Amino acid sequence: MKIHEYQAADIFKKYGIPTNPGKVAATSAEAESAARDFARTVVVKAQVHVGGRGKAGGVKLAKTAAEAKEVAEKILGMNIKGITVKKVLVAGGIEIKKEAYVGITLDRARQKPVIMVSAAGGVEIEEVAAKTPEKIVKAWVDPLLGLCDYQVRDLAGALFSDPAQKKETAAILKALWRVYTECDCSLAEINPLVVDGAGKVLALDSKIIFDDNALFRHPDLEALRDANEEEPSETAAREANLSYVPLDGEIGCLVNGAGLAMATLDVVKLYGGNPANFLDVGGSSDPKKVVNALKIITGSGKVKAILFNIFGGITRCDDIAQGILTALSQMKLDLPIVVRLTGTNEEKAREMLKGTKLIPAATMVEAVERVVEEAKKKS
Ligand code: GDP
Ligand code: MN
Repeated sequence: MKIHEYQAADIFKKYGIPTNPGKVAATSAEAESAARDFARTVVVKAQVHVGGRGKAGGVKLAKTAAEAKEVAEKILGMNIKGITVKKVLVAGGIEIKKEAYVGITLDRARQKPVIMVSAAGGVEIEEVAAKTPEKIVKAWVDPLLGLCDYQVRDLAGALFSDPAQKKETAAILKALWRVYTECDCSLAEINPLVVDGAGKVLALDSKIIFDDNALFRHPDLEALRDANEEEPSETAAREANLSYVPLDGEIGCLVNGAGLAMATLDVVKLYGGNPANFLDVGGSSDPKKVVNALKIITGSGKVKAILFNIFGGITRCDDIAQGILTALSQMKLDLPIVVRLTGTNEEKAREMLKGTKLIPAATMVEAVERVVEEAKKKS
């Protein structure tokens, strides 16, 4: 789950990371009044769940309150990478002497969190990683040992030579590590970490992504969710307790189990189709869940054919077949639907689907070939 910069900054502040305090405004009048309170040059920043706001024109300096109003008017309502800006953060302008990058995320290959720092901050770190990877210094943290002092000293030393700045940076890195672990983050990032006019080190941008699988133990963090920033289909899926990822293709996939869902996407691709989504209906045969799933994947109007790929282990295939039939009797759906059911009671299930408009298939390949063919017929 992503949160806004101002929310991440609040968390950073709680953990002792110096940030640039600001005020959130939803209208240009509010932005103007916030700017007046600062009584100096301010920065007006779009609050959206995407990076690269600066480049997109979503971060602007304003010398006066009147100018802040004008700038806020432009930024509010702006579309940045597909998301409409509904709020801006107004903060006192900071004189920047140096811009650095610090971030913590999980390195899956090494199975450890990695702390990355770079003196080439400010710009998108992906760009630095692609063009000048030698400018990124990394340290991997052993989860049993935790972050060690020598690592913190090395990383801080890679960014600044001034002893006071090194010391401040070391404290920031330690605090960021606590945020990352205690809040169950998948990313905790400061870009840029700046040295201001007075030589102090502070976080000028704050970014946090939480690990969805750990959110259940942080109701306070869950409350920071902004459904405004999510795709409506994602919100509906979350509320229906379905694990769902929208993709760009035309074949809607309903699968039980995440592993089988991944395999299904691969096979659909292999046979020349494009999956419209990743959707795991779990072990349930609950017709309500199937109705929700079908509504979600057909909602965008892009889906041309649907594939049910169900492996019946503990779940019985006849139960699932009944769930699908009941679901379809409750909604109008005019798309070809291929159903592959295998495992416990599969013959019985296929028997039940006979005489319906559903297209039964015995194997995964047969089902995928058929659904790809059906989708092509429709396009
Ligand atoms: P992002 O582009 O979405 O990562 O947004 P950032 O919050 O990182 O802002 C983008 C850039 O705007 C930063 O790298 C800074 O160069 C600049 N910026 C942000 N706040 C200030 C400020 O208070 N003063 C100055 N001079 N520049 C700022
Ligand atoms: Mn940034």
